[in-house]
Formats: sequence, C-alpha cells, structure tokens
Amino acid sequence: MEIYEMTASETAEGIKAGRFSAVEAARCGLSRIAKFDGEVNACVTVTEEHAIATARRVDGMIARGEDPGPLAGVPYIAKDNFCTKGIRTTCSSRILENWIPTYNASAINFMNGAGAVLIAKSNLDEFAMGSSTENSIIGPTKNPRDLGRVPGGSSGGSAASVAAGYVPLALGSDTGGSVRQPAAFCGIQGMKPSYGEVSRFGIVAYASALDQVSPLARTVGDLAMALNVIARPDPNDTTCDAYDRPDFAASLAMRDLRGKRIGVFAGFEAEQMDAELYGALTKAAALCEAAGATVEPIDLPIAVKYGVATYYVTALADASSKLGCFDGIRYGTHIDGPTLTDMYANTRTASFSEEVRRRIILGTCLLTEGFYQNYYGPALKVRTKMAMEFEELFSRIDAYLLPTSPSMPYPMGTKETDPTRLYLGDIFTVPISLGGLPGINICMGFTPDDLPLSVQLVGPRYGDASLLGIAGVIERVVGRPGAAAPRKLEEVR
Ligand code: GLN
Repeated sequence: MEIYEMTASETAEGIKAGRFSAVEAARCGLSRIAKFDGEVNACVTVTEEHAIATARRVDGMIARGEDPGPLAGVPYIAKDNFCTKGIRTTCSSRILENWIPTYNASAINFMNGAGAVLIAKSNLDEFAMGSSTENSIIGPTKNPRDLGRVPGGSSGGSAASVAAGYVPLALGSDTGGSVRQPAAFCGIQGMKPSYGEVSRFGIVAYASALDQVSPLARTVGDLAMALNVIARPDPNDTTCDAYDRPDFAASLAMRDLRGKRIGVFAGFEAEQMDAELYGALTKAAALCEAAGATVEPIDLPIAVKYGVATYYVTALADASSKLGCFDGIRYGTHIDGPTLTDMYANTRTASFSEEVRRRIILGTCLLTEGFYQNYYGPALKVRTKMAMEFEELFSRIDAYLLPTSPSMPYPMGTKETDPTRLYLGDIFTVPISLGGLPGINICMGFTPDDLPLSVQLVGPRYGDASLLGIAGVIERVVGRPGAAAPRKLEEVR
C-alpha cells in the first residue's frame, strides 16, 4: 500500500514502527500536491519548508525513543481561516491576501503537539461564506471525483485534499454545514462536533455563535482520533466547555446497533431531493435495522421549515459585527481616501467580494432598529423553538439520520449567480448547527458514474462519542467506499 492510501492511524503506526519516516510521509503528500493541485486548486499555500522541518523533528524524537504523540508524522492540511504562526492566512480574501498571523489557532497547536505535520493551507469560500468553494481569490477548487463539479464548501479545499489523497486528515470549520456538505460532495467522512467541544481560538470568525472546528478524513476512526487531539478545554475560548472529554476512539468498539433507537428523516416529498440521495437515506436506515437498531420515521417540522431563514438571519447579523475588524487599519489591505470614512469604504469595497459585501450589508440592516425587532428577535425565538424540537427528538432516539445535502455535487458555475438557491442547499445542515448538535457525514458509496452518495447522522449535544460509535458501525457495514483516491485524477495530470 502507498503511504497516501493509508488512514491517519495507519500512517502514524507505520512511522512509529519505523516502516517509513515522517519526512517520507510529508514528501508523499507534497508530491501529490505538486502533481495534481495545478488542476484541483485545493491549496492556497503549500508549507513545504515548515512541513519538512516539523517532520524531521518527529523523526528525531522517534530515533531518540520519545513518543511524538498519537498523530506522529501524520500530514494534514488546515483550512486557510485557521491562524498559523508565520504562515500566511488569507481566508481566501483580498483583504487578508498577505496577512501573516503571529500566533497559532489552538486546534493547530493541539495538532502540532500530537505530532501531526501541516503541509498546506486549503481553499475556502471567502471567509467561509458559501457552499461551493468557487468564491475565492485563488479561483475555484475542483471536485477530485469529477473535475467539472464543485467540491462543496466552504471547506472545499480541505475535503478535496483528503479525497485526492494529499493527506489522510484535514481540518475545516463548520458554521452551517461547511465540513459535512463538502465531505458529502467529495465522498469522504466529515464531522461537526457539538458546539463547545473544540476551541475556536484563532479561527477567523464567520459567526462565532455557530462556528466549530471540524475534522475531515476517509474513516470514522480517523475522525475520532482527530477529536481526541483537538477536543479539549481551552481558557482562550470561553465557549469551549471545560468538561472532561471521553475517549472518542474508544466508542468505536461498538459492534452492532442492538438496543439503539434511530430516527429517519420523514415528512417531506422524496422529489424534493435528488433521487440517488433519497436512495442512500433509505439504504442507511435499512442497514441500521439489519445491525439491530429500531428505526422509526420522524419529521422535524420547525427545523425544516424555518432552519434556513433562521440561520441566515442570525449568522449574517453575527458576521456583520465580526467582520467589522477588517477596517483597513488593523489587518491586511489598506486603500487610502481623503477622509477616514472614505478609507473604510475604499478598502472594504475593493477587498471584499460581492457575496461577502452582500452578507455584511444584510447583517448590518438586520441589527438596526425595526429590522432587529421584526427579524433578528423572532429568529432567536425560533432558534429556541428548534432547540426544544431537538430536545424532544433526542428524548426518544439515540441518533437521527437525514440527508447532508438535498443535491448531488453540481457542475461548476451553475449556482453562484443565484445566492438564494445556494442558501436553500443548506436546508439539512443549518438546523443541526443552530441546535449546537454533533453531525457526521457518512459516505454510502458511489453512483455508476462515480459521484458520491452520503447521509448525515446527528446526535444529542455532547453525544459525540456515542455518535461516532454508531457511525462506525454504519461505516463497517457499508465498507469504506471513499477510502481510495479517485482513479480519474491519475488520468488528468
Ligand atoms: N453554506 C453556509 C453559509 O454559506 C454554511 C457555511 C459554513 O458552514 N461556513 O453560510
């Protein structure tokens, strides 16, 4: 087996056992980037020098008989909205084009501390606002499963990097689906942990009340391994809970689903989503039943009807205030003008894309007198109603199956002109974010023309460990369809 075909845990094991070195693992990922990324365009910055130096340190520790940590020498890629000390962090935006942070995001520190090796920073929709990774200063990322289609977004660069076999593990951020949906589009696994599980310190905020650091990998086991490293209390983020985390990987010892109650999303017309995805949902439900679970159809009327509207009102209000710090003085691009107000306007008009400007303006309006009372206030109330709906749901079941996205990965350029169509694609992911719940995208296989099929498995808040266990059982019965890098990629170079 080639190094790039291994999971993160196989890579760490191989390095610890001396079968290959951390430097070889890093070079393997770097050479795949060199070979394919001219086409795929998943990476904003390749951190070769840093990667080789870090990998050498890991190899040195192993040579001295020291333990570099559970992710010893595992190459990984982080979305370019994670602050990385001394490494450019752009958020795929003109305004931060040349910004070099002076500190690391906590998640990056935790990964480094566990022996992982950062080899690149990945592309995203500017400031994580989007679902297709088409809106970026470096141009769109292509889906490695089909280069004419989008990889999903906004963590499309991270998902494409894992699917293309650059790395076995990547970090993204998920505010309203930005890890689960690209994982679905690229045929891999991706998990948004419960809100409060992982520190957000050093992640450039989109909507702090929803943002959550989230891993992407080719197996559920690797997601659990990553969570063991990054999910820990952090005094730098007060929304990161200080409780003692369980061993997330231990839950993968779950063998079957006997005694588990699983709900399956119902109450909608099958025609409202792509038929193949409806088929994947039905298949997942049948597999759970065969594994011993009791399965019952349940609908979520409030979440489905009001989720998208509630999410966009609250997230954009949050974003308009968070992005206020990009004023042309403190960070990045500065374009002068005769007065201070002109300077702000010149800088922000020229340096944010149309979509980001649209969201800032909408969010600002939503927080003004009148709009606040008519939209923002009611949205918060609906969010509470939704939380009650979820509470009731998880008093009856252990996990809930629903689609990740209503549509298959679509051809590039088809939705970017119509933002509302793009927003509606978030219908199944945003309610989970509003509820602060953990959600995992599980790859269920591929269509005859190699497009990935997926489902989303959701659990109660802080039920992450048991959710990983159930996802692990489903993955075992399905096999590991997304584990291999797509063959098509070899043909295009
Ligand atoms: N597609 C959603 C949005 O544009 C989610 C983005 C995200 O999770 N960062 O807001």
